[in-house]
Amino acid sequence: MKKILVVGGAGYIGSHMVKMLLAKGYEVVTLDNLENGFQDAVVGGEFVLGDLADRNCLNDLFTANKFAGVMHFASHIQVGESVQNPGKYYQNNVANTLNLLDAMVANNVNAFIFSSTAAIFGEPEYTPIDEKHPKQPINPYGLSKWMIEQVLADFDKAHGLKSCCLRYFNAAGADPEGELGERHDPETHLIPLVLQAASGRRKNITVFGKDYDTPDGTCIRDYIHITDLCQAHLLALEKLMDGADSMAFNLGNGQGFSVQEVIDVAREVTGQEIPVVESERREGDPARLVADSSLARKRLGWKPEYAELSTIIKHAWLWEKNFFCGEGGKQETA
Ligand code: UDP
Repeated sequence: MKKILVVGGAGYIGSHMVKMLLAKGYEVVTLDNLENGFQDAVVGGEFVLGDLADRNCLNDLFTANKFAGVMHFASHIQVGESVQNPGKYYQNNVANTLNLLDAMVANNVNAFIFSSTAAIFGEPEYTPIDEKHPKQPINPYGLSKWMIEQVLADFDKAHGLKSCCLRYFNAAGADPEGELGERHDPETHLIPLVLQAASGRRKNITVFGKDYDTPDGTCIRDYIHITDLCQAHLLALEKLMDGADSMAFNLGNGQGFSVQEVIDVAREVTGQEIPVVESERREGDPARLVADSSLARKRLGWKPEYAELSTIIKHAWLWEKNFFCGEGGKQETA
């Protein structure tokens, strides 16, 4: 049985990945510092409390385990915060990731899956965005991810470390079984916030800008179901473990939905009114971000199973109701 290290396995995407790996019969070790993750989101395998800044911890971990592959989800993800506090982003997302890569090289582990982001592209020059699109990140978050993508190309040349960089557009939705979901604190993402407004955990949803050059004036994003996202990771990991060369893919549904469409579909799915407040544009938001994911479909044989926005919202709603609002549930205030 192959053993996989999932760094950040207690977070939103990492926890869904751990569950999928276990279901596929992999042995899983999760490393997480629980700064943003939740230990009860790790549904199985071994859990190690530790930080990528701690080289001794990494050394012990790689000495004690023979990993066939490493998946790295442990980064800071807030664009605004990265502008205010870039050091935090370069320290964790870049310097700490280097510790992980060094540990892999020292222990001859050669398959690495890296959570990258659409933010590496910056202001889109065209849409849908394919892998050839110029990389011109406009904030420290995007730049930290692009830096590591370039570091990985050098580690491949120097050490034969094979990697797959997966640039997420808008990861959304939740485990179809309702066991896992999104619980960022603070929550900044559109779909969970809209559903908090639907459940009454928040009074309303604020729409950031209605004057964009889009059909209804609100921003268009490419929402990809968390299960489909994890499926792409699994396919990439298996390809690398089979000896494939390093790769990079853009991951989205290839179909954009506006903020207004998300709210309309959420109203249908939840049967709730969802009060809306209009406000100014949020700084740094491009009008339209849509992925061209045809390369991932072709090279990985990946096919999103939950491409419908209504399904994505339905699963996120299941989580919102069960986890936050259910009987005896873990109610948290927004
Ligand atoms: N958005 C919004 N209100 C919110 C949160 C987000 O109108 O309370 C908009 C945001 O401006 C963007 C889209 O929803 O156009 C998706 O934002 P999110 O933060 O979920 O993801 P991002 O695209 O920033 O990665």
